[in-house]
Amino acid sequence: MPEGDTIFRTAVSLNRWLSGREVTAAVSTVPGVDLGVLVGRRVEGVEARAKHLLVRFGGGTTLHTHMRMTGSWHLYPTGERWRKPVHQARVVVECGQRTAVCFNAPVVELLDDAGVRAEPSLRRLGPDLLAAAPIDPGGLALRAAARAELSPSVAELLVDQQFVSGIGNIYRCEALFVCRLDPHSPTRTLPPGLLAGLVATASRLMAANARSSAIARDFGGGRERPWVGRRAGRPCRRCGGLVVGERHGRDARVLYWCPRCQRRPGPPSPGGDHG
Ligand SMILES: [Zn+2]
Repeated sequence: MPEGDTIFRTAVSLNRWLSGREVTAAVSTVPGVDLGVLVGRRVEGVEARAKHLLVRFGGGTTLHTHMRMTGSWHLYPTGERWRKPVHQARVVVECGQRTAVCFNAPVVELLDDAGVRAEPSLRRLGPDLLAAAPIDPGGLALRAAARAELSPSVAELLVDQQFVSGIGNIYRCEALFVCRLDPHSPTRTLPPGLLAGLVATASRLMAANARSSAIARDFGGGRERPWVGRRAGRPCRRCGGLVVGERHGRDARVLYWCPRCQRRPGPPSPGGDHG
């Protein structure tokens, strides 16, 4: 599935190539979504908010797409062959020499400014980790408490978009490893300081990768070397024990973690469990 940093990079790239340009053709295969009104208008900007991608056009119209698990945006020189089958395209926006194609997004809609402000899925989002604004630790603790019933473990909490938005599966696993925290730790037992540190770690890892243009990811374990992500059954890079991969939580995504390195929060042990 697309991670927040992937969508962020996509938005940066679409922004660079489309902003300020006039729409020369626009079609959608989604019933009831008529993009013909966009032809002749200029693209004003492209913005990522968690897994939502918003393309703003002149005249106060915004194209809202949500990627969920399956959607993606591609940018092509106009006329070039697409890397996905044509029948998977939901939206095609052509601006002269460049064509942006959105494949498989489950949500595609046109909104006016009031509609963007009122859209429930955008209003409910927790603070975006890749946005410029700093995240308030007190607010995090309050939101964690409010979400503890629906996201009872810290692993579920980190991908709960109403807690913070933008963290995907691999970043949650890496941040939990870096902070040496057992993914099953109950949300209710997390001290506010630990929660703030965890979110700051995820944010730092994602920001580092959002700036990089390469596909290679650096999680601090070395280039293209996640600590635990997608490494089930292989030795932990830190302790040599086996990395576990297991289905977890409401969405049953695979959680990767090291049971030797990652512990539940508790009173500090005399030997310093977190060294
Ligand atoms: Zn380990």
